[in-house]
Amino acid sequence: MHPLAKLDQQFIWHPFTQMRDWLAREPIVIAEGRGAVLRDVRGGKYLDANSSIWTNLHGHNHPKINSAIQRQLKKIAHSSALGLANKPASLLAGKLLEAANPQSTISNPRLTKVFFSDDGSTALEVALKLAYGFTRRSRSANSLSARNKEPRLLSLEGAYHGDTVGAVALGHIDLFHRAYTGLLFKTDKVMSPFCYRCPFNRAKPERADAREYRKCKWECVSKVEQKFSARKTQGNSYAAFVFEPAMQGAAGMIPQPETWLKKVSEIARANGALLIADEVMTGFGRVGQASCLSQFSKIRDRLETCPTLFASQHEGVQPDFLCLAKGMTGGYLPMAATLTTQKIFDAFLGEYHEFKTFFHGHSYTCNQLGAAASLASLEILQGEKSIRARQILETALRDELKQLWQLPNVGDIRQVGLIAGIELVKDWRTRKPFDLRERAGIRVCEAMARRGVLTRPVGNVIVLMPPYCTTAAQLQKMISALREAVTICFR
Ligand code: PMP
Repeated sequence: MHPLAKLDQQFIWHPFTQMRDWLAREPIVIAEGRGAVLRDVRGGKYLDANSSIWTNLHGHNHPKINSAIQRQLKKIAHSSALGLANKPASLLAGKLLEAANPQSTISNPRLTKVFFSDDGSTALEVALKLAYGFTRRSRSANSLSARNKEPRLLSLEGAYHGDTVGAVALGHIDLFHRAYTGLLFKTDKVMSPFCYRCPFNRAKPERADAREYRKCKWECVSKVEQKFSARKTQGNSYAAFVFEPAMQGAAGMIPQPETWLKKVSEIARANGALLIADEVMTGFGRVGQASCLSQFSKIRDRLETCPTLFASQHEGVQPDFLCLAKGMTGGYLPMAATLTTQKIFDAFLGEYHEFKTFFHGHSYTCNQLGAAASLASLEILQGEKSIRARQILETALRDELKQLWQLPNVGDIRQVGLIAGIELVKDWRTRKPFDLRERAGIRVCEAMARRGVLTRPVGNVIVLMPPYCTTAAQLQKMISALREAVTICFR
């Protein structure tokens, strides 16, 4: 065994990993990366087919991000945001707000303030604490009965919003979350629009994305409506509705049928709930820009008026909280942001002695290196070259994925922009799932790794999320590794 692999096994406890399995075989030790390629300490080459757990945007070792970090490093790596401001964080806040408030698509509300933190989980913690705090404050100005009711949050079935305790309380994946029930505050869940496995979808399985051939009456939207009105009847309307727009990630790469987001957001707003959009996975161009493209014929126009970096914007939904992380630094450093409105901000203003302050923050809030990397990443992302490359890659991904329908163990192929979830099943005709104990997803990913392609499954769903710099040949290799792996594992 390589000495570094030995060292890892001796000392490191890995996230979301059964460590007994981990200790049973030599781990791949990554030493370098360039573009979409990772290299291990033995010189082995792999394609990074899930962008290092959904974080990397433009590829590894990107010269522009590297030099932005190096330039910043010559000045200072970090200074505290408790009592001090800094240049890259201030510039970044402005740029994020600019990108999050496109002139063309969205009417309200405007996002005007940014609270920085470290990870997706912490971005959600900030949003939920602010939503809770804001609701309590606004209710205390109201009647006694409203004042005494604890603000309650609603999130989607299968939701995953991170692993800190607050974020876990918003989550609804029993396998991860049930063990901590005693630690959590109560939230409610509502049906998410999972067309492939929807009990209301009367269509027989076809060799196509289930969203296209579904037969239903939007019962998933009615369920949201019912949930809101039941709560209202109890005299305690939901304080906030938390969702991943366009696609739920850790729930199993579950894509939303077009207009679902718009419909449920309208319901939530009509019931006075704040909208918390978790764009930790979907942000920064991950879900593509198709709907934006249809409105603007020339790239030049679109660059100036409609960058649509965020999934909510695809349906013209502007949340009260936009939670960003993962890709924000281009996948270089842990940094996150929660964007919110003036209304929320103002509720925390007061005289010092009133203690309306938002008592929350982290040692590395507004980290200068992370902000420098994020600024460079944003600039690349909004450049014409990257926009074109993403469009080409999205189309290529769509074309390449088609061949997987030939495999009887592929039940559903769910693509949104540059994210694809391929659900493995016992038999596509019945949609019968593999038991998790069969480790179908893990086995396929192991077989892909042997073919030089790295990704991680979500249960029995294989995730492909290529870096934006992936070439056509690299994409073909990702798909053929997946095709071969599925064929070999289930023959
Ligand atoms: N929200 C979503 C949608 C996520 O996908 C994740 C991570 N997979 C998180 C929140 C948590 O992010 P982090 O792991 O950076 O804390």
